[in-house]
Amino acid sequence: MTADDNRRVLTYLREHSPSMVADLKRFIALESPTTNKAAVDALGKALAEELRGLGGAVEVLPKAEVGDVLRARWNPGEGGVLIMSHMDTVWAIGTVAGRPTRIDGDRLYGVGAMDMKGGIVIALWALRALRALELFPRGPISYQLNSDEETGSKHSSAEIESEALAHNVVFVTEPPQDGAYKTQRKGVSQYTITAKGRAAHSGADHERGVNAIEEIAHQVIAVEAMTDYTIGTTANVGVISGGTRANVVPAEAKVEINVRAWTRVNQQAIHEKMMSLRAVHPEAEIAVDGGVGVPPMERTAEIAALFKRAQTLAAEMGIALEEGRTGGGSDGNKTAALGVPTLDGMGMVGEGGHAVGEYGEISSLPERAAIMAAMLREPL
Ligand SMILES: [Zn+2]
Repeated sequence: MTADDNRRVLTYLREHSPSMVADLKRFIALESPTTNKAAVDALGKALAEELRGLGGAVEVLPKAEVGDVLRARWNPGEGGVLIMSHMDTVWAIGTVAGRPTRIDGDRLYGVGAMDMKGGIVIALWALRALRALELFPRGPISYQLNSDEETGSKHSSAEIESEALAHNVVFVTEPPQDGAYKTQRKGVSQYTITAKGRAAHSGADHERGVNAIEEIAHQVIAVEAMTDYTIGTTANVGVISGGTRANVVPAEAKVEINVRAWTRVNQQAIHEKMMSLRAVHPEAEIAVDGGVGVPPMERTAEIAALFKRAQTLAAEMGIALEEGRTGGGSDGNKTAALGVPTLDGMGMVGEGGHAVGEYGEISSLPERAAIMAAMLREPL
C-alpha cells in the first residue's frame, strides 16, 4: 500500500523530469554568490514563490550582510521534519555566462548544479509530488533555506539551530557525490600557533638571536605527528609565515592549522594536545589560539536508523541507496550536534562541487525526490 504510493510518486517525478530540469536551469541562471546579497535575495524571491505555490506559509527572515533566510511551513505544530538547503554558491556573478548550462547525456553541467541548486529542486519536487498525488503528510514539515553556508553559515546559525531543535529530524540536501547519503561528517577545528624569539643580525651577533622559525619548525613537526589515520583524525599545517629578511634572525613566525575528527571525543583529545604544546627553545615563546569550529556529525543509533529506513524505502522503489561519510562539513554538523537526528547528502548526485567541471546526474533528480517524499511520509 505505502510502497505502491511511493512507486506512484516516483513515476510522477520521472514523468516530470523535464520540468525538474527546467527548474534547475532557471535557478542556476539566478546566480547567487554568498557575497552578493541582492543576487541571493533575487533567487530567494523566486523560491518563495515556489514555496507559496506549494501551499507553504512562507517567512522571509531579513539579514543585513547576506541574503535573507527563507522558511516555509506546512501543518505547523510540534516536532516533524525540517528540510534544509542553502541558496548561495561559491561562484561570482558572470560565471554562468562563461560556463553556460549544458546537457550531455545524463549529465547536466552547470554552475552550482549539484551544490546545491539540484538539492533545492529535489526538495521542491518531493513536496509537489506529494501534493499532486494527495499524499501530503499530516505532520509538520518545514523547509528552511539559508544564504551563507559556503562561508560557514555564521549569519544563519541561530535560525538553523532554533529550527532544528523545533523538529524531530533534519534532512539536508547537500550533494552526495558518490551517491551515498551521509550519516557522518568530520568536525573541524582551527588553530594558529605564533612563535616569538629574538631578532639579531645574522652576521654581527647571530648567537644573541632566538630563531622563531626554528621554534615554529619544531611545532610543525609536533602538530603533523598528531594525525592518526587509523581513527581518521588529521592535523594539517596549511599556512606558514615568518621572518623579515635572510640576514636577520627572525623574531616571529606563525602557522595556521586545520584539524578534522570523526567524533567529539577525538576532537577534544586533539584540542588538549594543541593546548599542551610548549616551546622547545628555552628562550622562545609560543601562543596557541583557536579551538573547535564545527562539531562532528556523529553516526548515532538514530541517524543509522534513519538511513536504514531511507534505504528500505528506496529499495521498494527499485533504487539502490548506499550509506557514506565525508571529512567535509555542512549545516548538518550543526543540527546533529544538537542531538537532532540528521540525514545529509539527500541532494543531487554528481561530481565536481566547487570546481569548473561541476555536473549533476539528471536521473538522480526524480529518484532522490521520490526517496525524500517517502521519508517525509514516514520520517520516524
Ligand atoms: Zn553545499
